[in-house]
Amino acid sequence: MRFMGDRCTGCRTCQLICSLSHDGESNPSLARVVMHAEGLRLRAEFTPECDECARCAKFCPYGAMLKGK
Ligand code: SF4
Ligand code: SF4
Repeated sequence: MRFMGDRCTGCRTCQLICSLSHDGESNPSLARVVMHAEGLRLRAEFTPECDECARCAKFCPYGAMLKGK
């Protein structure tokens, strides 16, 4: 997965859809993508459990995620 931090607003929709689809619960702490604050920007880290299903990219309202490297 690719993350474009300049588009990300930190809305966490990606984490909610990831945890909902994989764990049946909207809980950002269960998501396979973790957001790290770096100053005013965010950095996304995909955990080893990420299966690249790309649902986070599909539902990101700002186009900040894309499938692929
Ligand atoms: S859904 Fe998109 S804009 Fe919202 S936190 Fe995730 S990557 Fe950022
Ligand atoms: S690609 Fe799928 S498993 Fe990986 S973070 Fe996005 S929604 Fe979660």
